[in-house]
Amino acid sequence: MLQTRVIPPAEGAYQYPLLIKRLLMSGARYEKTREIIYRDQLRYSYPTLIERVARLANVLTAAGVKAGDTVAVMDWDSHRYLECMFAIPMIGAVIHTINVRLSPEQILYTMNHAEDRFVLVNSEFVGLYKAIAGHLTTVEKTLLLTDLPEKTAELPNLIGEYEQLLAAASTQYDFEDFDENSVATTFYTTGTTGNPKGVYFTHRQLVLHTMGVSTIMGSIDSVRLLGTNDVYMPITPMFHVHAWGLPYVATMLGLKQVYPGRYDPEYLVELWRKEKVTFSHCVPTILQMVLNAKAAQNTDFGGWKIVIGGSALNRALYEAAKAKGIQLTAAYGMSETGPLVSCAHLNDELMAGTEDERITYRIKAGVPGPLVEAAIVDTDGNFLPADGETQGELVLRAPWLTEGYFNEAQKGAELWAGGWLHTGDVATLDSMGVIDIRDRIKDVIKTGGEWISSLDLEDLISRHPAVREVAVVGIADPQWGERPFALLVVREGHEIGAKELKEHLKPFVEQGHLSKWAIPSQIAIVTEIPKTSVGKLDKKRIRVDITEWQANNSTFLSTL
Ligand code: AMP
Repeated sequence: MLQTRVIPPAEGAYQYPLLIKRLLMSGARYEKTREIIYRDQLRYSYPTLIERVARLANVLTAAGVKAGDTVAVMDWDSHRYLECMFAIPMIGAVIHTINVRLSPEQILYTMNHAEDRFVLVNSEFVGLYKAIAGHLTTVEKTLLLTDLPEKTAELPNLIGEYEQLLAAASTQYDFEDFDENSVATTFYTTGTTGNPKGVYFTHRQLVLHTMGVSTIMGSIDSVRLLGTNDVYMPITPMFHVHAWGLPYVATMLGLKQVYPGRYDPEYLVELWRKEKVTFSHCVPTILQMVLNAKAAQNTDFGGWKIVIGGSALNRALYEAAKAKGIQLTAAYGMSETGPLVSCAHLNDELMAGTEDERITYRIKAGVPGPLVEAAIVDTDGNFLPADGETQGELVLRAPWLTEGYFNEAQKGAELWAGGWLHTGDVATLDSMGVIDIRDRIKDVIKTGGEWISSLDLEDLISRHPAVREVAVVGIADPQWGERPFALLVVREGHEIGAKELKEHLKPFVEQGHLSKWAIPSQIAIVTEIPKTSVGKLDKKRIRVDITEWQANNSTFLSTL
């Protein structure tokens, strides 16, 4: 250890802990009258948000919630969720943002594993909650969240309804200081194998993530996404990595915030129009859903900036959104990383290039943000060159990455092998520091000794005018190990089969963009592609479906 100079603080010097409460206080300083909006049901200003957070803290404390307890929330995106994201950690408890789209068995597993003591349940999930309640091992009390006129429901150990309890509570709460390394939030990965794993973030990590996101999105000119005049509407569920941390950023900056409840594409477009939303974030499939909405067909979305993450942003979607006036920017992260790690950035050299070159970089995972270190390693953990070509596993360091999995020491140690967080993603890094995600390690298609990126193939296939949606997976093949298989949703009035797809891909092979082994010899035409609980392509389920179709020689299949 270096013998550096560390000077003890003066007597009485305030030792400032990085706590979430600090993020809440600044918003109202910028624009007191800016509003927090919930659908067409409720709107209030920042001073009211601060009061409501204090009221909720009083309600929870009176119900017996203590520092260190875990309090779970089952809700769609709402002002209530925002209030919980502040009040629960601010009293020293941990908010568990339940992924309500997991199966009931998985939800039950996560609630018992997280040791939830107290649960806030939206009336839409009362049936679900009651079905698992008998198997919950740690929950003591419930609280009802509802938009309905009746303010009660048959919930076991119900202490009351949110709005009624808040109305009766004091607007004053003395939020104490405590250790900034206290856990503030927890949630479970949407892992495709085995049980979901619990990640957790401390106050310090979330404050630093908030500062990191606002720096990346607010200060870098080539992406300039966020300023105090922006109007924010999440279209990533708040249970998915705290809506990517943006509610904390928006609150810290005092932005007008619009919470849409359960996502209905027609209503999202209506809210966008009515509230003049300028900034959102989502996974590609949700954007596709919004663009397909009836209300979107004759709408020019000029001025809407959307960050796309959670899956690769392909060129076809970038261009479709651009044609509708939407400015898309790719970003990268995962549940374990808080999530934001990198965001597309174009330096002066790239800005001076052609539009085509610029798009190539706007859709890549981008440059690691300030304080983030990224590298690529081989399977033995050796660092690989950042030459834009060598592929390896992306590993990360940043002050806001989960430091393990809750009660799973072995899996945590694997995540952090060699002191770097292992993402499970194959990537290249180039000399400008740009991360290009090539694929999930487990989704790369290994065929005849070659590695083919399912993401590359999806990108190229999606450029065919008949293709509305595509997913590519590797399917076991006795001769080649694996063969690529494409699942397509076709646009209305169009047709495509395996032969037409081959014709479309051939020029990319001839130009050297694609290996000839990457051309699928079999595809399936479907009306819908299976998605995970957070709207990503569900490749595990897709592989199972394809194997079944092949066994039954299904009519969905088209073969070369
Ligand atoms: P999750 O933990 O469910 O949020 O999933 C994280 C995973 O999503 C990452 O490990 C990547 O495989 C994928 N992902 C996130 N952002 C991107 C991106 N910009 N490009 C490609 N894949 C991405």
